[in-house]
Amino acid sequence: MNVTRQYDALVVGGGLAGLTSALGMAKMGLKVLVLEKGNLPRHKVCGEYISAEVLPFLKSLDVDFESLNPARINKLVLSAPSGQALQANLDQESLGLSRWAMDYYLAQKAEAAGVRVALQEPYLDFELEKEGYVVRSKKATYRANWLIMAYGKLGQPDRQLNRSFLRKGTLYSGIKWHLEADWPRDLVALHNFKGGYAGVSQTETGLVNLCYLVRTATVKKAGGVEALEQNVLSQNPHLEQLLEKSRKVWEKPVAISGVRFSARGAITQGLPMLGDSAGLIAPLSGNGMALAIRSARLWLEALRSVEAKPQLRKAALSHYQSAWNAQIQGRLRFGKTMQGLFGGTMLTELALGTAAVFPPVTQQLIKQSHGKPLAPFT
Ligand SMILES: Cc1cc2nc3c(=O)[nH]c(=O)nc-3n(C[C@H](O)[C@H](O)[C@H](O)COP(=O)(O)OP(=O)(O)OC[C@H]3O[C@@H](n4cnc5c(N)ncnc54)[C@H](O)[C@@H]3O)c2cc1C
Repeated sequence: MNVTRQYDALVVGGGLAGLTSALGMAKMGLKVLVLEKGNLPRHKVCGEYISAEVLPFLKSLDVDFESLNPARINKLVLSAPSGQALQANLDQESLGLSRWAMDYYLAQKAEAAGVRVALQEPYLDFELEKEGYVVRSKKATYRANWLIMAYGKLGQPDRQLNRSFLRKGTLYSGIKWHLEADWPRDLVALHNFKGGYAGVSQTETGLVNLCYLVRTATVKKAGGVEALEQNVLSQNPHLEQLLEKSRKVWEKPVAISGVRFSARGAITQGLPMLGDSAGLIAPLSGNGMALAIRSARLWLEALRSVEAKPQLRKAALSHYQSAWNAQIQGRLRFGKTMQGLFGGTMLTELALGTAAVFPPVTQQLIKQSHGKPLAPFT
């Protein structure tokens, strides 16, 4: 095989998990390549509301999201499809920051630390040989001691690795707009509607992110996005008002389909899976981004525990698996419960009713969806 270059570590996916782990590995002295199938910067489907729990860890990698002028969010409004709403203060501040800015900034930091970020270069497949992994992309073939998967919620690698979650669970679509709208900078709203829910908050640019997750069947039944927004989302008076009184800055939304919340796993075919590749948390319970970054930290710890010696690969994987089970799996399960609770109209009304009557329930909901601050990696 004609191998182009040799790396210590090769990361598939230049999103939050992939770039953070690549940056951390470079800081550990490894020669790292990231294969990213798309371009950067670019817009991605995401509510762009990131829990501040990740900040201390990121700062230890010389990444300071606060320098990007994010919105600082400390208030939450939750509404049911009927418009019935409750408000709460968030114990922990979160940031409103676009993926356009965040992912690009991380890629620049990774490159400054010596990582090669190869854009528009999709990963194809790998083989494990005695000397390490041989990895094929659309453009070249590489050799690496470590292969890390961080390709997000859905990708060609899922099919290539024949992952069973592809055959399970309800299908969802994600749709995102940036809006010019009058919206408080410190507020995030979660507005439910029949078949889905929408998050609303400001980004660093002052534009407002409207991002919703909806059953794909609901979009089809409505007859497309425009009809869905007019006839389904707008049944919630908060969303109706927002859509009426704002201006969409793009002609078309950023959209994805084929989203599933079925269980995946931290290791597949002997490869560490980071971020959404290991498991996708329901956006309602927040913080897929924080979990992606957390998983990168867990991987760095696992690697450090074996001093990045490839002959100790099995020990590193086992370390990562246990840490992931302890720190991430529970939050994914909580997300699944919330998804069930808020997916249906009746349940949302009921859950909101309960939360309004019992404030501790609301506080529990907020607490469960934000993790403890992530310690610096030194
Ligand atoms: C509707 C919706 C709203 C959300 N809102 C929020 C929110 O407000 N707050 C929050 O914290 N989380 C939110 N999330 C979750 C969050 O977006 C994800 O958890 C987070 O992006 C995961 O990061 P990641 O690095 O695992 O994946 P990604 O950021 O998706 O990165 C994966 C990268 O891999 C690349 N890739 C894929 N296939 C290949 C390949 N074959 N070769 C090379 N590269 C490849 C992709 O192009 C992508 O850049 C939301 C999710 C959805 C669906």
